[in-house]
Amino acid sequence: MDDLRASLIQQLSVYSDNEEGFLRHVDHLAGTQGDRIFSILLNIFTQLDFKYEEAPSIWRNLVKHRRMMMDSMDRPVNLTTAICDYMLTVKKALHQPKVVELNLFEETHHYSKCDRLTGLFNRTYFEEALKSEASRCRRYQSEFSLVFFDLDHFKNINDTLGHLAGDSALKAIANLILSEKRAEDIAARFGGEEIVLILPGTQKFSAMIIAERIRHKIEYMNLYFEEQMIQVTVSGGIATYPLDTDIEGELVDCADRALFRAKHRGRNQIVLFSDDKRHDVRMDWMGPIKIQELGTRILKRPAMGRIKDLSLSGVRFESDQPIKMGSRIQLEVPLLSGDPPLVVVGQVTRLNPSGSGYDVGAAFLHFGEQDRAAIHKQVAGLLPASTASSSC
Ligand code: GH3
Ligand code: MG
Ligand code: MG
Repeated sequence: MDDLRASLIQQLSVYSDNEEGFLRHVDHLAGTQGDRIFSILLNIFTQLDFKYEEAPSIWRNLVKHRRMMMDSMDRPVNLTTAICDYMLTVKKALHQPKVVELNLFEETHHYSKCDRLTGLFNRTYFEEALKSEASRCRRYQSEFSLVFFDLDHFKNINDTLGHLAGDSALKAIANLILSEKRAEDIAARFGGEEIVLILPGTQKFSAMIIAERIRHKIEYMNLYFEEQMIQVTVSGGIATYPLDTDIEGELVDCADRALFRAKHRGRNQIVLFSDDKRHDVRMDWMGPIKIQELGTRILKRPAMGRIKDLSLSGVRFESDQPIKMGSRIQLEVPLLSGDPPLVVVGQVTRLNPSGSGYDVGAAFLHFGEQDRAAIHKQVAGLLPASTASSSC
């Protein structure tokens, strides 16, 4: 809830026996916070949205209206009664108002948007937020990404440690996501153990960095229930609007298909949606790859490693040196076909110690038609046609 709105509600109960004091407090707040407090106040009392410019004069008129009611009735009139009368008889903005306790109303309003177990937004709110984010992107020609997380083998946790342990793991993961996300991101519980994250103004590779950071922290979080350690991991799929689809209703489906691939590949990983059928190609091929961190320093010697996955959206490889998360790298991959090496620029989205080296993932940033053709050729030369392509 907006801080100012919350503080006004709190002040209303502080001044519940002293409405004159509350009105003086409002005047004081208008001096420090500006006129926006009037539209918030009117919304608290009436749940109606008044224009920012007209709200201050409406507020002053209804304070005058209260004074007139007191004079004509010759008795105190509380603010809520005066506002109701003003809105019904003068402003004619209310028709059949329901009388509700303010605190109770705020609580119901909060829970109508949020999931009680996790505190995340609920599915209904998520669907509305997705629609409005897509229309904002259309208006400003920007983009946003959607991450679809699903807990791995969650049924096992319920079956072995009990449902309460499962609930507490779900809550802890929701809290971790809330603390990792930026203020403008929207985290919601999509269903049972599925959590979605809308990342406004976020390109695919940046979404990968955020999702991968969350995945990594979940893997290494210290989670206990009644002194029993709970080991939990998540898988995730990412889709970007309008890059992957410009139909907002299809975005969840794209992210879900990428999630399906993450599960299929062995879980505890994040996969980017790509509509290309040749995205999921494994290459059991040892070869020297040269990695250069762009804009920082040139590594003393090329990292040696094995490419684990090469796809049209990124690459995973083993490196004998750590490479900073988020850094831009240039990757030189010699091609078996004898063609000049493939040189691609990517951003590091994954870095995990693995054996004596590091498991590194990078999402491609610049990817031309030539690179695309070179990867296709490489893959076609290495694998039988049936294994070279796989669908989501
Ligand atoms: P996978 O890695 O394939 O996702 O395996 P999974 O076991 O997580 O998948 P599945 O969809 O078969 O099971 C989801 C489980 O999540 C089943 C259900 O009991 C559990 N679950 C869903 N919502 C809740 C909840 O609110 N609390 C608890 N404790 N468990 C839940
Ligand atoms: Mg599930
Ligand atoms: Mg699951």
